[in-house]
Amino acid sequence: MTQVPNIRLNNGVEIPQFGFGVFQVPPEETEQAVRDAFDAGYRHIDTAQMYQNEEGVGRALAESGLARDEVFLTTKLNNDNHGHDAALRALDGSLTKLGVDHVDLFLIHWPRPKDGRYVETWRALEKIAAEGNSRSIGVSNFTVEHLERLAAETGTVPAVNQIELHPRFPQDELRRYHADHGIATEAWSPIGQGGDLLQDPTLATLAERYGKSPAQVVLRWHVQLGNIVFPKSSRPERMRENIDVFDFELSDDDMQAVSGLGTGTRMGPDPDEFG
Ligand code: NAD
Repeated sequence: MTQVPNIRLNNGVEIPQFGFGVFQVPPEETEQAVRDAFDAGYRHIDTAQMYQNEEGVGRALAESGLARDEVFLTTKLNNDNHGHDAALRALDGSLTKLGVDHVDLFLIHWPRPKDGRYVETWRALEKIAAEGNSRSIGVSNFTVEHLERLAAETGTVPAVNQIELHPRFPQDELRRYHADHGIATEAWSPIGQGGDLLQDPTLATLAERYGKSPAQVVLRWHVQLGNIVFPKSSRPERMRENIDVFDFELSDDDMQAVSGLGTGTRMGPDPDEFG
Protein backbone atom coordinates (compact mmCIF):
# COMPACT_ATOMS: atom_id res chain seq x y z
CA MET A 1 0.00 0.00 0.00
CA THR A 2 1.16 3.55 -0.79
CA GLN A 3 3.31 5.17 1.87
CA VAL A 4 2.04 8.72 2.35
CA PRO A 5 4.53 11.08 4.05
CA ASN A 6 3.49 13.14 7.06
CA ILE A 7 3.93 16.87 7.37
CA ARG A 8 4.67 18.29 10.82
CA LEU A 9 2.38 21.20 11.71
CA ASN A 10 3.54 24.19 13.77
CA ASN A 11 2.27 22.60 17.01
CA GLY A 12 4.10 19.30 16.38
CA VAL A 13 1.03 17.37 15.18
CA GLU A 14 1.70 15.21 12.11
CA ILE A 15 -0.74 15.27 9.17
CA PRO A 16 -0.67 12.85 6.24
CA GLN A 17 0.17 14.93 3.17
CA PHE A 18 -2.38 13.07 1.07
CA GLY A 19 -6.03 12.63 2.04
CA PHE A 20 -9.57 12.22 0.73
CA GLY A 21 -12.03 15.15 0.46
CA VAL A 22 -15.78 14.65 0.63
CA PHE A 23 -17.12 17.97 -0.70
CA GLN A 24 -20.19 17.22 -2.86
CA VAL A 25 -20.31 13.57 -1.82
CA PRO A 26 -24.04 13.07 -1.11
CA PRO A 27 -24.74 12.14 2.54
CA GLU A 28 -26.18 8.75 1.58
CA GLU A 29 -23.06 7.86 -0.40
CA THR A 30 -20.47 9.14 2.03
CA GLU A 31 -20.08 6.06 4.22
CA GLN A 32 -19.31 3.87 1.20
CA ALA A 33 -17.00 6.45 -0.39
CA VAL A 34 -14.96 6.80 2.81
CA ARG A 35 -14.80 3.02 3.22
CA ASP A 36 -13.50 2.76 -0.33
CA ALA A 37 -10.96 5.48 0.44
CA PHE A 38 -9.75 3.58 3.51
CA ASP A 39 -9.43 0.45 1.35
CA ALA A 40 -7.37 2.45 -1.14
CA GLY A 41 -4.99 3.46 1.65
CA TYR A 42 -6.24 6.91 2.60
CA ARG A 43 -5.90 7.80 6.30
CA HIS A 44 -6.84 11.47 6.20
CA ILE A 45 -10.42 12.63 5.61
CA ASP A 46 -11.42 16.24 4.94
CA THR A 47 -15.08 17.04 5.64
CA ALA A 48 -17.02 20.13 6.81
CA GLN A 49 -20.24 21.02 8.56
CA MET A 50 -21.31 22.59 5.25
CA TYR A 51 -21.01 19.26 3.39
CA GLN A 52 -23.72 17.69 5.62
CA ASN A 53 -22.00 14.32 5.48
CA GLU A 54 -20.14 14.14 8.79
CA GLU A 55 -22.39 11.25 9.95
CA GLY A 56 -21.36 9.15 6.95
CA VAL A 57 -17.69 9.84 7.65
CA GLY A 58 -18.25 8.85 11.29
CA ARG A 59 -20.00 5.60 10.38
CA ALA A 60 -17.24 4.62 7.96
CA LEU A 61 -14.64 5.31 10.64
CA ALA A 62 -16.54 3.35 13.30
CA GLU A 63 -16.94 0.34 11.03
CA SER A 64 -13.44 0.45 9.54
CA GLY A 65 -11.74 -1.35 12.39
CA LEU A 66 -9.11 1.40 12.28
CA ALA A 67 -8.02 2.89 15.59
CA ARG A 68 -8.96 6.53 16.09
CA ASP A 69 -5.32 7.60 15.98
CA GLU A 70 -4.76 5.89 12.63
CA VAL A 71 -7.04 8.36 10.85
CA PHE A 72 -6.54 12.11 10.60
CA LEU A 73 -9.93 13.82 10.66
CA THR A 74 -10.58 17.42 9.62
CA THR A 75 -13.86 19.29 9.80
CA LYS A 76 -14.71 22.97 9.32
CA LEU A 77 -16.94 25.52 10.98
CA ASN A 78 -20.01 26.45 8.96
CA ASN A 79 -20.44 30.07 7.93
CA ASP A 80 -23.50 30.60 10.13
CA ASN A 81 -21.63 29.37 13.23
CA HIS A 82 -19.20 32.30 13.55
CA GLY A 83 -18.91 33.86 17.02
CA HIS A 84 -17.36 32.47 20.20
CA ASP A 85 -20.20 30.46 21.74
CA ALA A 86 -21.73 29.39 18.42
CA ALA A 87 -18.37 27.98 17.32
CA LEU A 88 -17.97 25.98 20.54
CA ARG A 89 -21.47 24.54 20.14
CA ALA A 90 -20.89 23.79 16.47
CA LEU A 91 -17.76 21.76 17.20
CA ASP A 92 -19.71 19.76 19.79
CA GLY A 93 -22.29 19.03 17.09
CA SER A 94 -19.59 17.83 14.71
CA LEU A 95 -18.06 15.53 17.34
CA THR A 96 -21.49 13.97 17.92
CA LYS A 97 -22.10 13.47 14.19
CA LEU A 98 -18.62 12.08 13.63
CA GLY A 99 -18.92 9.84 16.70
CA VAL A 100 -15.52 10.89 18.06
CA ASP A 101 -14.31 12.72 21.16
CA HIS A 102 -11.89 14.91 19.21
CA VAL A 103 -10.97 15.85 15.65
CA ASP A 104 -7.41 16.30 14.45
CA LEU A 105 -7.95 19.63 12.73
CA PHE A 106 -10.76 22.16 13.00
CA LEU A 107 -10.87 25.02 10.50
CA ILE A 108 -12.78 28.26 10.12
CA HIS A 109 -14.23 27.47 6.68
CA TRP A 110 -14.55 31.06 5.36
CA PRO A 111 -13.44 34.34 7.00
CA ARG A 112 -16.57 36.37 6.19
CA PRO A 113 -14.65 39.63 6.73
CA LYS A 114 -17.72 41.82 6.25
CA ASP A 115 -19.30 40.08 9.23
CA GLY A 116 -16.13 40.94 11.16
CA ARG A 117 -16.16 38.09 13.66
CA TYR A 118 -13.35 35.78 12.62
CA VAL A 119 -11.05 36.99 15.41
CA GLU A 120 -13.75 36.25 18.01
CA THR A 121 -14.34 32.87 16.35
CA TRP A 122 -10.60 32.14 16.39
CA ARG A 123 -10.56 32.64 20.18
CA ALA A 124 -13.13 29.84 20.42
CA LEU A 125 -10.88 27.61 18.31
CA GLU A 126 -7.97 28.42 20.66
CA LYS A 127 -10.16 27.21 23.54
CA ILE A 128 -11.12 24.08 21.59
CA ALA A 129 -7.43 23.29 21.07
CA ALA A 130 -6.56 24.00 24.70
CA GLU A 131 -9.28 21.59 25.85
CA GLY A 132 -8.12 18.88 23.45
CA ASN A 133 -11.30 18.77 21.39
CA SER A 134 -9.20 19.34 18.30
CA ARG A 135 -5.52 18.43 18.17
CA SER A 136 -4.82 21.39 15.90
CA ILE A 137 -6.69 24.41 14.57
CA GLY A 138 -6.48 26.37 11.36
CA VAL A 139 -8.31 28.45 8.81
CA SER A 140 -9.52 28.19 5.25
CA ASN A 141 -9.86 30.77 2.51
CA PHE A 142 -7.93 33.37 4.52
CA THR A 143 -5.95 35.99 2.58
CA VAL A 144 -2.71 37.61 3.80
CA GLU A 145 -4.80 40.45 5.19
CA HIS A 146 -6.96 38.10 7.29
CA LEU A 147 -3.90 36.19 8.52
CA GLU A 148 -2.17 39.43 9.49
CA ARG A 149 -5.17 40.48 11.53
CA LEU A 150 -5.18 37.16 13.40
CA ALA A 151 -1.45 37.56 14.06
CA ALA A 152 -1.91 41.11 15.38
CA GLU A 153 -4.87 40.34 17.63
CA THR A 154 -4.41 36.75 18.86
CA GLY A 155 -1.65 34.53 20.16
CA THR A 156 -1.96 31.42 18.00
CA VAL A 157 -0.71 31.04 14.43
CA PRO A 158 -3.06 28.78 12.41
CA ALA A 159 -1.55 25.35 11.76
CA VAL A 160 -2.89 25.40 8.19
CA ASN A 161 -4.65 27.62 5.70
CA GLN A 162 -6.77 25.59 3.26
CA ILE A 163 -7.07 27.54 0.01
CA GLU A 164 -8.06 27.13 -3.61
CA LEU A 165 -4.81 26.05 -5.28
CA HIS A 166 -4.16 24.22 -8.54
CA PRO A 167 -1.96 24.83 -11.59
CA ARG A 168 -4.40 27.42 -12.99
CA PHE A 169 -4.31 29.32 -9.66
CA PRO A 170 -0.99 28.50 -7.99
CA GLN A 171 -1.18 31.12 -5.18
CA ASP A 172 2.57 31.83 -5.09
CA GLU A 173 2.27 34.90 -2.84
CA LEU A 174 0.10 33.20 -0.22
CA ARG A 175 2.28 30.07 -0.27
CA ARG A 176 5.33 32.25 0.42
CA TYR A 177 3.54 33.99 3.27
CA HIS A 178 2.61 30.59 4.76
CA ALA A 179 6.21 29.35 4.47
CA ASP A 180 7.50 32.49 6.19
CA HIS A 181 5.03 32.13 9.08
CA GLY A 182 5.00 28.39 9.76
CA ILE A 183 1.54 27.80 8.26
CA ALA A 184 1.07 24.60 6.22
CA THR A 185 -0.64 25.02 2.84
CA GLU A 186 -3.65 22.82 2.10
CA ALA A 187 -4.77 22.94 -1.54
CA TRP A 188 -8.47 22.62 -2.27
CA SER A 189 -9.74 21.57 -5.70
CA PRO A 190 -6.17 20.35 -6.30
CA ILE A 191 -6.98 18.93 -9.76
CA GLY A 192 -9.27 21.81 -10.69
CA GLN A 193 -12.40 19.74 -10.00
CA GLY A 194 -11.46 17.43 -12.85
CA GLY A 195 -12.39 20.09 -15.43
CA ASP A 196 -10.58 21.35 -18.51
CA LEU A 197 -7.27 21.65 -16.62
CA LEU A 198 -6.82 17.90 -17.07
CA GLN A 199 -7.22 18.30 -20.86
CA ASP A 200 -4.27 20.70 -21.04
CA PRO A 201 -1.74 19.61 -23.74
CA THR A 202 1.27 20.33 -21.47
CA LEU A 203 -0.13 17.91 -18.89
CA ALA A 204 -0.82 15.34 -21.63
CA THR A 205 2.85 15.52 -22.70
CA LEU A 206 4.10 15.16 -19.13
CA ALA A 207 1.65 12.34 -18.40
CA GLU A 208 3.01 10.42 -21.36
CA ARG A 209 6.64 11.12 -20.39
CA TYR A 210 6.17 9.76 -16.86
CA GLY A 211 3.68 7.01 -17.72
CA LYS A 212 1.09 8.63 -15.45
CA SER A 213 -2.29 10.34 -15.91
CA PRO A 214 -2.71 14.14 -16.07
CA ALA A 215 -4.36 14.04 -12.61
CA GLN A 216 -1.34 12.17 -11.20
CA VAL A 217 1.07 14.72 -12.71
CA VAL A 218 -0.86 17.57 -11.07
CA LEU A 219 -1.06 15.78 -7.71
CA ARG A 220 2.67 15.01 -7.85
CA TRP A 221 3.34 18.73 -8.55
CA HIS A 222 1.44 19.56 -5.33
CA VAL A 223 3.35 16.93 -3.34
CA GLN A 224 6.71 18.27 -4.51
CA LEU A 225 5.66 21.84 -3.63
CA GLY A 226 4.87 20.60 -0.12
CA ASN A 227 1.11 21.18 -0.38
CA ILE A 228 -1.32 18.96 1.53
CA VAL A 229 -4.00 17.60 -0.84
CA PHE A 230 -7.22 15.59 -0.61
CA PRO A 231 -8.71 15.09 -4.07
CA LYS A 232 -12.27 13.86 -4.22
CA SER A 233 -13.60 10.97 -6.28
CA SER A 234 -16.54 8.64 -5.87
CA ARG A 235 -14.86 5.96 -7.99
CA PRO A 236 -12.54 3.49 -6.23
CA GLU A 237 -10.26 3.15 -9.28
CA ARG A 238 -9.71 6.92 -9.34
CA MET A 239 -9.14 6.97 -5.58
CA ARG A 240 -6.32 4.46 -6.14
CA GLU A 241 -5.01 6.37 -9.15
CA ASN A 242 -4.93 9.68 -7.29
CA ILE A 243 -2.94 8.45 -4.30
CA ASP A 244 -0.48 6.55 -6.52
CA VAL A 245 1.95 9.47 -6.92
CA PHE A 246 4.81 8.46 -4.65
CA ASP A 247 6.81 6.38 -7.15
CA PHE A 248 7.96 9.10 -9.56
CA GLU A 249 9.43 12.57 -9.42
CA LEU A 250 8.90 15.56 -11.73
CA SER A 251 12.13 17.25 -12.85
CA ASP A 252 12.67 20.93 -12.01
CA ASP A 253 11.84 21.89 -15.59
CA ASP A 254 8.63 19.90 -15.53
CA MET A 255 7.64 21.46 -12.17
CA GLN A 256 8.12 24.86 -13.84
CA ALA A 257 6.04 23.77 -16.82
CA VAL A 258 3.09 22.88 -14.54
CA SER A 259 3.50 26.12 -12.55
CA GLY A 260 3.43 27.96 -15.89
CA LEU A 261 -0.21 26.97 -16.47
CA GLY A 262 -1.43 29.68 -14.06
CA THR A 263 -4.07 32.08 -15.36
CA GLY A 264 -4.61 34.00 -12.14
CA THR A 265 -8.30 33.14 -12.21
CA ARG A 266 -10.16 31.44 -9.38
CA MET A 267 -12.69 28.68 -9.98
CA GLY A 268 -14.33 29.25 -6.61
CA PRO A 269 -15.63 32.29 -4.72
CA ASP A 270 -13.67 35.33 -3.58
CA PRO A 271 -12.88 34.94 0.15
CA ASP A 272 -13.66 38.62 0.80
CA GLU A 273 -17.19 38.15 -0.49
CA PHE A 274 -18.32 34.57 0.18
CA GLY A 275 -20.63 33.46 2.95
P1 NAD B 1 -10.90 18.13 -6.94
O1 NAD B 1 -9.90 19.01 -7.59
O2 NAD B 1 -10.46 17.16 -5.92
O3 NAD B 1 -11.68 17.38 -8.12
C1 NAD B 1 -12.61 16.37 -7.87
C2 NAD B 1 -13.30 15.95 -9.17
O4 NAD B 1 -12.33 15.62 -10.17
C3 NAD B 1 -14.13 14.68 -8.99
O5 NAD B 1 -15.44 15.02 -8.63
C4 NAD B 1 -14.06 14.01 -10.35
O6 NAD B 1 -15.06 14.55 -11.19
C5 NAD B 1 -12.72 14.45 -10.88
N1 NAD B 1 -11.65 13.47 -10.71
C6 NAD B 1 -11.21 12.89 -9.55
N2 NAD B 1 -10.15 12.09 -9.78
C7 NAD B 1 -9.92 12.15 -11.11
C8 NAD B 1 -8.97 11.53 -11.96
N3 NAD B 1 -8.02 10.73 -11.47
N4 NAD B 1 -9.01 11.84 -13.28
C9 NAD B 1 -9.94 12.66 -13.79
N5 NAD B 1 -10.88 13.28 -13.04
C10 NAD B 1 -10.87 13.02 -11.71
O7 NAD B 1 -12.05 19.09 -6.37
P2 NAD B 1 -12.82 19.28 -4.99
O8 NAD B 1 -13.62 18.10 -4.62
O9 NAD B 1 -13.50 20.59 -5.13
O10 NAD B 1 -11.64 19.50 -3.93
C11 NAD B 1 -11.11 18.45 -3.12
C12 NAD B 1 -11.47 18.65 -1.68
O11 NAD B 1 -11.06 19.94 -1.22
C13 NAD B 1 -12.97 18.63 -1.40
O12 NAD B 1 -13.54 17.35 -1.44
C14 NAD B 1 -13.00 19.27 -0.04
O13 NAD B 1 -12.62 18.35 0.96
C15 NAD B 1 -11.95 20.37 -0.20
N6 NAD B 1 -12.54 21.67 -0.57
C16 NAD B 1 -12.49 22.67 0.34
C17 NAD B 1 -13.02 23.92 0.04
C18 NAD B 1 -12.92 25.01 1.06
O14 NAD B 1 -13.55 26.06 0.89
N7 NAD B 1 -12.17 24.84 2.11
C19 NAD B 1 -13.62 24.15 -1.20
C20 NAD B 1 -13.66 23.12 -2.13
C21 NAD B 1 -13.11 21.89 -1.82
